[in-house]
Amino acid sequence: MVEPPRGFTGEGFFTMKLSEAIGLARSNSIWPLPFATSCCGIEFMATMAAHYDLARFGSERLSFSPRQCDLIMVMGTIAKKMAPILRQVYLQMAEPRWVMAVGACASSGGIFDTYSVLQGIDQVIPVDVYVPGCPPRPEAIIDGFMRIQDLVKQEDIRRRNSDEYKHLLNEYGIQ
Ligand code: SF4
Repeated sequence: MVEPPRGFTGEGFFTMKLSEAIGLARSNSIWPLPFATSCCGIEFMATMAAHYDLARFGSERLSFSPRQCDLIMVMGTIAKKMAPILRQVYLQMAEPRWVMAVGACASSGGIFDTYSVLQGIDQVIPVDVYVPGCPPRPEAIIDGFMRIQDLVKQEDIRRRNSDEYKHLLNEYGIQ
């Protein structure tokens, strides 16, 4: 049984806060950008395929253009040479935007504690949700996706205007 949205109901009407209605719509129509560089990307392919079917969450429409996506899912080892490119893609995303680090490599460099590998994408862009595992199973990716949905539902219409968010971006040198 699906929970009805929070709101006020009476005879012949249902009403709710505008910000919550927008959050509900946004959270069920997230367009992901898969930034897949290695093995974790294969798990994402399984997450999209018929058995796990991310379309159930309204997210079957992948976006390979940063301007038309809401969530960047970083999956795989990110070499230091790739870091500025990842950051550029993030900067090209329109607000509101969310970031998910999928797997050990994207979250922390994973087993590749070497001179050439970025030790976590949060060194160059802010991350909203980390998914552990090497690789995480599709269930774990879906769980991380649902945590993103929770954030999207709760965030105010103007996330970009909040002091907390501005402070976070300032720490990354992003205006
Ligand atoms: S976390 Fe493991 S499975 Fe994922 S990209 Fe790194 S090495 Fe591959």
